[in-house]
Amino acid sequence: MKKTDLAINDALKKFSTRVAVQSLKEQKQFTSEKSADKMIWNNDLAFFIAVLLDQNIKAEKAWAIPYHLKQRLGYWSVKKIANTSEKEMIKLFNTKPKLHRFPKTMALRTIKACNKIISDFQGKAKNIWQGNKTSKEVYGNFKSFEGIGQKKASMATNILARDFKIRFKDKNNIDISYDVHVRRVFLRTGLIKRDDKDQVINMARQLNPEYPGLIDLATWYIGKHYCKSQNPLCDECPLKTVCQKKIFLNVKSETKTFFENKKEIDSRTIIKNIDSIYEKFKVPNNIRLHCKTVAEVIKQIISQTKKNIEVDKNLLIAGGLLHDLGNIIKIDFKSDLAKQTYSKKQLHELQMVKQEIIEKYGSSPDEGTKNMLEELNVEKKIIFLLERSRWDLIEEVMNKRNYETKILAYADYRVSPKGIVNLKERLEDLKERYKHFHFKNKIKEKQIQKRNEAYFKIEEQLVKKGLKPELIR
Ligand code: SF4
Repeated sequence: MKKTDLAINDALKKFSTRVAVQSLKEQKQFTSEKSADKMIWNNDLAFFIAVLLDQNIKAEKAWAIPYHLKQRLGYWSVKKIANTSEKEMIKLFNTKPKLHRFPKTMALRTIKACNKIISDFQGKAKNIWQGNKTSKEVYGNFKSFEGIGQKKASMATNILARDFKIRFKDKNNIDISYDVHVRRVFLRTGLIKRDDKDQVINMARQLNPEYPGLIDLATWYIGKHYCKSQNPLCDECPLKTVCQKKIFLNVKSETKTFFENKKEIDSRTIIKNIDSIYEKFKVPNNIRLHCKTVAEVIKQIISQTKKNIEVDKNLLIAGGLLHDLGNIIKIDFKSDLAKQTYSKKQLHELQMVKQEIIEKYGSSPDEGTKNMLEELNVEKKIIFLLERSRWDLIEEVMNKRNYETKILAYADYRVSPKGIVNLKERLEDLKERYKHFHFKNKIKEKQIQKRNEAYFKIEEQLVKKGLKPELIR
């Protein structure tokens, strides 16, 4: 351990006890609403639900959700929430002002989590953490819920130990929570060289092996209030005498990008920035290649049929580029195909990415893609196009007059992992690859057959408009 690292650690520990922890404890503030805060401090389920929903929106807003949800429900009990219908819960999350940016995912997650509390924790949220457990047990209990990963499980365990004074047998497994403020301070002080979650966690473990999360709040507080992404307040910062002030390191990644733009993103912007979008959502290379090839096929179809069909070319290309954004969710990394496609190292990394994506965006690929598109704030007609051209709606696509959905659905079915193929080859490839998916989801052979026929019918419709399938390559 370098002397400079130890000095930074000492300064962070000093700051933890002196200012940050003290001020936060005094104010007892998780939200900007007194009643919502009171509920978090006095109700175990409210604390748990706040942890569950704390993502993709400001923390202050997420921690106020239990209070507002209770007002809308008219009750607050694990059993009653578990028994609330999905439709009702989605409606309550969606009622304006919406409780969360992803109302459907979070509504379903809330019901699911309450069912799990009933089945695994005797119906009491406090059983997740109480009973003189080890920190590893508590961390593991949080992490066993869909939607809670490393960051949230560590954060929750840490808050319980530090602020709620819950007794654990040890604190060895309470890690630092990797987030934008923490990583910025770690990078700029010189504690780590690369913006990497594992580097942040490992460095915190080396600094304080008995309680790695000890410096979490101080680091986060400094990141939020002093070490701002633009114009950091070094002269006032508690770390000013020990920090290496590598401010240049992550300024680039935090400069204003179109991701932060509040306006809707149109198709042209998407096409121009597609690689940054893939990076943002950690889309695996083979999915990127598939989407880009589909977009190429779309261009060829439009060029062949342009005399007879009028479509929005940019919209369709953007749709092709985005249509499988969340597809990592459905990749079975234990399958033979995955083992043939990725190296061992890639498999390990992608499995972690998959977990992270599921936690953030939901466990179904369609839902995940939609949540990503909403987070990007893409124009609504792209979301509509992607929703209307799905495989399960293909018979509808065939029967309707909308050629944009027909072209997108057809183009997707002309691209297999081998590249551009004819429709028959692609359908055989999909039959083999998705046989387990079809079996698991009880999709009958007859139904698959009907949908396959719809694709051939759509090809015929496009041929009538000038498509030459054999020239698509
Ligand atoms: S001294 Fe400056 S660069 Fe270093 S942590 Fe503080 S604000 Fe950030």
